Amino acid sequence: MALIVQKYGGTSVGSAERIKNVARRIAKTRAEGHDVVVVVSAMSGETNRLVALAHEMQTMPDPREMDVVLSTGEQVTIGLLAMALKEIGVDAKSYTGWQVALKTSSAHTKARIEHIDDAAMRADLTAGRVVIVAGFQGVDSNGNITTLGRGGSDTSAVALAAALKADECQIYTDVDGVYTTDPRVVPEARRLDTISFEEMLELASLGSKVLQIRSVEFAGKYQVRLRVLSSLQEGGEGTLITFEEDQNMERAVVSGIAFDKNQARVNVRGVPDKPGIAYQILGSVADANIEVDMIIQNVGAEGTTDFSFTVPRGDYRQTLNLLQEVQKNIGAAEVDGDDTVCKVSIVGLGMRSHAGVAATMFRTLAEENINIQMISTSEIKVSVLIDEKYLELATRVLHKAFGLEKTSA
Ligand code: ADP
Ligand code: ASP
Ligand code: MG
Repeated sequence: MALIVQKYGGTSVGSAERIKNVARRIAKTRAEGHDVVVVVSAMSGETNRLVALAHEMQTMPDPREMDVVLSTGEQVTIGLLAMALKEIGVDAKSYTGWQVALKTSSAHTKARIEHIDDAAMRADLTAGRVVIVAGFQGVDSNGNITTLGRGGSDTSAVALAAALKADECQIYTDVDGVYTTDPRVVPEARRLDTISFEEMLELASLGSKVLQIRSVEFAGKYQVRLRVLSSLQEGGEGTLITFEEDQNMERAVVSGIAFDKNQARVNVRGVPDKPGIAYQILGSVADANIEVDMIIQNVGAEGTTDFSFTVPRGDYRQTLNLLQEVQKNIGAAEVDGDDTVCKVSIVGLGMRSHAGVAATMFRTLAEENINIQMISTSEIKVSVLIDEKYLELATRVLHKAFGLEKTSA
């Protein structure tokens, strides 16, 4: 008998019929003799609907109240799923984040999990009940409801699996595993039986939304056995995230491609070229809690420099406003930007031992006349910033150039 944490995402609980289907899956796992803790998301579209409603009330919704509203989506699904289980004779009990209690920091809309009280859940499991926990939400030390950032139910599930020392954390979604890239964009994408933890972490951080980045971080920190599977089809092993490197394995140079539309580029032009400038520009952005990603600095005309960097698209306007202030102080010539850009990244452990991977990437994009605006690299990835209208094309041609299609498997 094992303890299994199963997480079902928005599409998997998107209708009454689908919730009943999830209940049947859970009943099957119970019948096999396992203890089950289930984490569910809000029904698909619900969180977006709540975000839109909040914006109708307030231009910049109050973060505490935003979390009060956002957490309702998951509360509906836990109750409905508990009812569906009872209807088929499986005892179950639902828990909101605060009922668990799943304690988080106070950073509303992007809180971090700090501690999970497992006593109540364990008592239910011992009593033979299925425990159903609302994903994406927690409670801070002052009793305020918090949420963990979009896609946060993955993180709730892995954190619960870590706290309960579960044998496996299964993430059920609308695809049957982790693919070489998003199969919605490249139909030739191939499902991977396994992916290394490092590659999965990189793909998630570069925009592949199949797993929220923090869920992968948790899995690494607590060595949680993590698997991605389909809730919509029967059977299948899905994709297992692996921690040990198999030295004998012939590694693909590139294992996957991620893309991220949540990008905007900001330029500060004609900046006097002297020490402290980067700090003055980026310091003001960091003070506003805006995350800077790619950065380049070029020599400009006559002792000046041009400075460009990327920020999340939602922070674009605020960044431009901030820089208008900074521009006056540092005597820069111009501040402008572009929020119709995207980042496309190739990821692979094999890059460590292969030269020329970046060159292949640049040549492939050049052959399609796709202009590269920025580049950033690490040991196991190369990212480029390009016009967002080329996102699909770039992903497709790179997928082919690195031999990732089904036929070449
Ligand atoms: P859920 O609601 O179950 O959390 P998400 O929509 O958050 O589901 O994540 C699943 C989606 O992630 C898939 O439908 C797919 O479009 C997308 N995706 C992006 N990159 C990948 C990838 N490399 N492998 C599989 N799916 C991916
Ligand atoms: N319902 C939340 C969202 O849509 C959390 C999740 O689904 O993981 O972002
Ligand atoms: Mg998700």
